Amino acid sequence: MRYAWPAGRPAGWWVDDSRRDIFRYRALLPVSDLALASPLRVGMTPLYEAPRLGAAAGLNRLFLKDDGQNPSASFKDRAGAVALVRARETGAAVLCGASTGNAGSSMACLAASVGMPCVIFVPEKAPAAKIAQLLIFGATVLAVKGSYDDAFDLCMAVCEKRGWFNRNTGHNPFTREGKKTAAFEIYEQLGHIPDWVAVPTGDGNIIAGVWKGFCDLKEAGIVDRTPKMLCAQSEESAAISQAVWKLQKTGRSPSDWKHVAIAPVSATTLADSISVDIPRDGLAAVRAVVESGGAAVTVPDADILGAIPEMARGAGVFAEPAAACAWAGLTKAAREGMVKPDKTVVCLCTGNGLKDVASARRAAGEPVAVDANVDAALAATEGLGG
Ligand SMILES: *Cc1c(COP(=O)(O)O)cnc(C)c1O
Repeated sequence: MRYAWPAGRPAGWWVDDSRRDIFRYRALLPVSDLALASPLRVGMTPLYEAPRLGAAAGLNRLFLKDDGQNPSASFKDRAGAVALVRARETGAAVLCGASTGNAGSSMACLAASVGMPCVIFVPEKAPAAKIAQLLIFGATVLAVKGSYDDAFDLCMAVCEKRGWFNRNTGHNPFTREGKKTAAFEIYEQLGHIPDWVAVPTGDGNIIAGVWKGFCDLKEAGIVDRTPKMLCAQSEESAAISQAVWKLQKTGRSPSDWKHVAIAPVSATTLADSISVDIPRDGLAAVRAVVESGGAAVTVPDADILGAIPEMARGAGVFAEPAAACAWAGLTKAAREGMVKPDKTVVCLCTGNGLKDVASARRAAGEPVAVDANVDAALAATEGLGG
């Protein structure tokens, strides 16, 4: 979506300081009636400097943006919050969407906050916590016997027949608009534009959205530079990265988009939120990486699992597997010299670790079993100090 930015803009025109959520950037968003917004606080998530975690990868200026602190515990709430306003502005009666889990649980949460009915299509193998969220918020949950891609196609067909508001990623342009707000927050919180932003990528809507946010800031004359975008994917779900590498290899001009082909893959990654056969916003994601001068990296699932305790122990932030993929990818990019030690880097933590406890337990190890007496507990804690 393109905007006609107002002429003769006073300093700070783009921030409504009376709001502590994404709608503080209403001047840059496609919404008119904020009385229709969810009362839940979406966005304005913390940006933490993480020196100890950064040092482990040789990065001296690392920041984590913890979007696990949104109402439904993922980055998807940014998209859902804007989509909800749009749905209500158009008088929609039912919200609908297909999801690997988080987009749906976000829509269900936001729908519940304003009392709207919500229908979500998920693959039946979505993690239990995400299904629990959907059901708890009162959505009608259709657990599709198939993949996310099957759920997506089914949702498209049913929305078409029933005339429901369809939030689907890549189909609904308002999701990208919501997601771009993370870029505005990063700029406000850091006070400048970072050198790199690392984004875990499946459909490509987050990386495309965040990139658009930085581009909007530049186009509106608020900043004069943009960061490089780092697309982090699992080796087991790497359609966008493969397209980026192919384009970089052929050396074609990034404006020559008709040469970009995104070949479908058979995704098998355990990071369910980024397990995608056919990226629904793939072209825009490839553009984000190439136009920003960024890079795409892929990591094995073992590195994704390993990144969960690294982030948790190095910075106190608990990420679900997809979110940890950003850190795993960034570590690799730093190791290979793509991201230099003194660059300011923001790593997006897109979802809370409690969303997939089973994966976290695989990475976390076991507790120390101890008999219920003091001597046993003292013996078990020998060498820990005190
Ligand atoms: C959806 C999601 C992603 C990936 O976003 P895309 O737009 O599909 O690339 C990453 N992490 C989490 C936690 C998500 O829910």
